[in-house]
Amino acid sequence: MQLLAGKTALVTGSTSGIGLGIATELARAGAHIVLNGFGDAEPARQQIAALGVQVWYHPADMSKPDDIAELMAYAAREAGGVDVLVNNAGIQHVAPIEDFPAERWDAILAINLSSSFHTMHHAIPAMKARNWGRIINLASVHGLVGSANKSAYVAAKHGLVGLTKVAALELAQTGVTCNAICPGWVRTPLVEKQIAARAQASGQSLAQAQIDLLSEKQPSQQFVTPEQLGQLAVFLCSPAADQIRGAAWNMDGGWVAQ
Ligand code: NAD
Repeated sequence: MQLLAGKTALVTGSTSGIGLGIATELARAGAHIVLNGFGDAEPARQQIAALGVQVWYHPADMSKPDDIAELMAYAAREAGGVDVLVNNAGIQHVAPIEDFPAERWDAILAINLSSSFHTMHHAIPAMKARNWGRIINLASVHGLVGSANKSAYVAAKHGLVGLTKVAALELAQTGVTCNAICPGWVRTPLVEKQIAARAQASGQSLAQAQIDLLSEKQPSQQFVTPEQLGQLAVFLCSPAADQIRGAAWNMDGGWVAQ
C-alpha cells in the first residue's frame, strides 16, 4: 500500500520547478494531485497522470483571494477535498529598497505570503474534521536569513515561517501538521533568471555566473533538486513526521550553517 494512496494533494505553482517536483513525488507516493500555476499545464498534467493517479488543474491567480476561494471550492467539489496542501507558488524581484517598485512589493507579499493564509483558511476546517492533514509551506533560506536586494522576498518568507509556526500551534492537538521547507538554490526558471541577470551585469558567461552564484552562499556548491524537496515533502506526510510541527526545515547545501 502506497503511503498517500487515496489522499489528494493540492500544490500551488506546480506547472514548473519545485512545485512540479513536489507534485511528482507526492504522486509517486500515491496521492491524487490538484495542479495550479501559470503557463501550459498540459506537460505537468501528463507527467503526473503517467504515474497512475488522478490529476486536476485550476488556473487560480494566487495573488487574488477570490481566485483562491474558487480554487479551494474546485478542489473540494472535483477532487473530494485537500488532504495535503503545499503552498509553493512564488515569485522574485531583485533590487535595492530605494529602487524596489511598490507594485512588485505588493505582488510578492500577496503571492509568497498572503496566498498561504488564504489556502489554509479554506483547507483547515475539513482537515480538522477528518483529523488528518499536512500543510507544507515552501519558504526559503530567505525565511531564516536575509540577503541584500531581496526585501520583499525575505520579508514574505520570514512571514511564511511565522505563519507556519502559528498554524502548527493552533493545530497541535489535531492530526493536522504544518511545517515549512526552506530550500537554498534550486535550479528552476526562478533562479535561471537570476543567473542570466548576473551574467549580463558582470559580462560573465552563464556557466561562470552559475558557479559564482553557488560559491557565494551555498557551501556544497551544488543545487538542491526539486526531487529531493519532493521526497522531503513525502517524509513530512509520513507517520514518522506526526510530531514534526512548526519546523522550518532547511535543505540548502549548508547555506544557513554559516
Ligand atoms: P518557478 O518560477 O519555477 O515556479 C513558480 C510556480 O509558481 C510556477 O508554476 C508559476 O506558474 C507559479 N506562479 C507564479 N505566480 C503565480 C500566481 N500569481 N498564481 C499562481 N501561480 C503562480 O519557481 P521555483 O523556483 O520552482 O519556486 C517555487 C517556490 O520555491 C517559490 O515559493 C520560491 O520562492 C521557492 N524557493 C525557490 C528557490 C530556488 O532556488 N528556486 C529557493 C528557495 C525557495
